[in-house]
Amino acid sequence: MARSFFIPPSLSEYIDASWLRESEVLQELRSETAKMPGGGMQIDAVQGQLMAFLVQLMGAKKVLEVGVFTGYSSTVVAMALPSDGEVVACDVSEEITSIARRYWKKAGVESKITLKLSPAIETLDALIEEGHAGSFDFAFIDADKANYLAYYERTLPLLKKGGVVAIDNVFWDGRVMDMSNFEPETVAIRQINEHLHKDERVELCIVPIGDGLTLARKR
Ligand code: SAH
Ligand code: CA
Repeated sequence: MARSFFIPPSLSEYIDASWLRESEVLQELRSETAKMPGGGMQIDAVQGQLMAFLVQLMGAKKVLEVGVFTGYSSTVVAMALPSDGEVVACDVSEEITSIARRYWKKAGVESKITLKLSPAIETLDALIEEGHAGSFDFAFIDADKANYLAYYERTLPLLKKGGVVAIDNVFWDGRVMDMSNFEPETVAIRQINEHLHKDERVELCIVPIGDGLTLARKR
């Protein structure tokens, strides 16, 4: 189901019926996740298809993901990569990512994905330290919102020139535009939105899909 707070359900149904091409493995992962607490954190299928399209369009080979959860976004992107493509996937939860690992196997992409189980700031700092700067084609930031700016500032050096970072949930269900809302996550997302708007290091656009997806391309 295409989920977006400003798309009426009737249009969502039409979008799904007309454009969606969700593989069986991904459908299975979606229904398993739907039954779980926090299941709504999963990207919708339409957004997954867009991200797969993007990495193919770019000819991406090396991808970074911050926030794996049950593995939908990493699986859909890994499936779109060539056989020598790779995904470095960051999360803190062994338990939740055990589901992701099961689906990476089912989808036949487990050999493309390396899971890093530590706070993502530490993983990103280590990647920079280990010489991965300037090597990633595409990155997806979708973990804890309070650290979004820290993730972005570490992801940008890891990207190649021309590489793209996609940042999820930048509408935060519309709370970003409610100026009486000062919840820490709302403030953090508003902050990264403002930061990117004036960041001369990147080209910028917004895709009003799901809960809002920012795309920034490294100059
Ligand atoms: N991209 C996923 C959804 C991610 S949900 C999908 O589309 O299905 C956010 C994830 O961020 C959760 O799995 C959570 O465990 C993880 N997370 C939270 N804090 C983190 C941190 N400090 N470092 C890395 N991952 C973190
Ligand atoms: Ca998300």
